[in-house]
Amino acid sequence: MIYQRSSALFAEAKKYIPGGVNSPVRAFKAVGGDPIFVKEAKGAYLYDVDGNQLIDYIASWGPLILGHAYEPVINAVVEKAKKGTSFGMPTEIETELAQLAVSMVPNIDKIRFVNSGTEACMSAVRLARGYTGKDKIIKFAGCYHGHSDSFLIQAGSGAVTFGSPNSPGVTQGTAKDTLLATYNDLGSVQALVDANQGEIAAIILEPVAGNMGCIVPQDGFVEGLRDICTREGILLLFDEVMTGFRLGRGGAQEALGVNADIVMFGKVIGGGLPVGAFAARAEIMAHLAPEGPVYQAGTLSGNPLAMSAGLAMLTELYNRPEVFTSLAEKTEYLHKGIAEVLTEKGVTHQINRFGSMISVHFTDEPVVDFSSAAKGNNDMFKKYFHGMLDNGVYLPPSAFESYFLSDALSYADLDKTIEAVGKVF
Ligand SMILES: *Cc1c(COP(=O)(O)O)cnc(C)c1O
Repeated sequence: MIYQRSSALFAEAKKYIPGGVNSPVRAFKAVGGDPIFVKEAKGAYLYDVDGNQLIDYIASWGPLILGHAYEPVINAVVEKAKKGTSFGMPTEIETELAQLAVSMVPNIDKIRFVNSGTEACMSAVRLARGYTGKDKIIKFAGCYHGHSDSFLIQAGSGAVTFGSPNSPGVTQGTAKDTLLATYNDLGSVQALVDANQGEIAAIILEPVAGNMGCIVPQDGFVEGLRDICTREGILLLFDEVMTGFRLGRGGAQEALGVNADIVMFGKVIGGGLPVGAFAARAEIMAHLAPEGPVYQAGTLSGNPLAMSAGLAMLTELYNRPEVFTSLAEKTEYLHKGIAEVLTEKGVTHQINRFGSMISVHFTDEPVVDFSSAAKGNNDMFKKYFHGMLDNGVYLPPSAFESYFLSDALSYADLDKTIEAVGKVF
């Protein structure tokens, strides 16, 4: 395929935007080459500025679970825009989306809307600290919770793709309050809890991890965290920015059968517009301003365009929960197909999958945490990524990212994708 115009646009972008992109993982640094500039997209397909058509396995990094330019969402946004794009005053649609979200997700009474997953996680931790009166948090190596200071300690996603898990600019003072545990290792958590008795406000995690590739919680891991939190008076925070409204109507809480104390959302909840949110039982949310003393605010929070996209998206998912089953079946089909081809070609690999999240790791060890994910062969990954791209399949440009299937993908698309794997190796 030819990417002349993309490369020219990237050269121009680099003159005015650091690295040419507004979010690092878009830059292809982990796989080499220039990023592709997209012109438009519909359903499961991206159309780039050079006229190539690509089958999309990123779906804007998760939000577009029903495919690109999904009509009910687009129509809702267009109609709303005609009536004004922002007021800085309450609107009815905020309550409508709040009510729907609360009805779909277990164990939450109230929800506060923000503009990104980063903001949601940052605000949720402040609320947890304000509620418990404690400072420290436990996070897991390889889990990504957005780019705010407290979380850039061994974070996943772009932060590891670029080899800077501990970003310059994060102060020692901030870093000392973030304690680091190992995913799927309850002992590592218990040891931190024992060493910091009475000082821990929250344990935060991706209940199914997606930012070190897809990593599935092993039996008893999340249940064990719930027990530790309940016993020690620590709040359990589920970062469901990726899993929320993707693993089912009730997200990972429902899929795993474990309740968190505060849940954070982003991605699907905005239907492709900038929305994040955090939610909890009324008693916890009562600590948030203006009801309580924990401050949090936003000029564009609850923006009518963003709310209309989110409401249209969640309404679809509420009315058609069979979408989640259909997506999981498609993902399983893809898993089996890719595994068969790689095995036949003698390529060492692991495939992790949960619902519509999946990732391929080129290693012979099970991938259960950050250090096993980091052992993947990146040269093989690069060959895979670029080979698939040459065959019209757009995968995440880093081994530390999950794919996100959209229900717009047909079985013909999946077959084409599986065939492409055979051509690469
Ligand atoms: C994407 C993501 C975030 C950050 O959300 P942004 O909207 O990019 O700020 C946080 N947590 C998880 C699990 C994510 O996947």
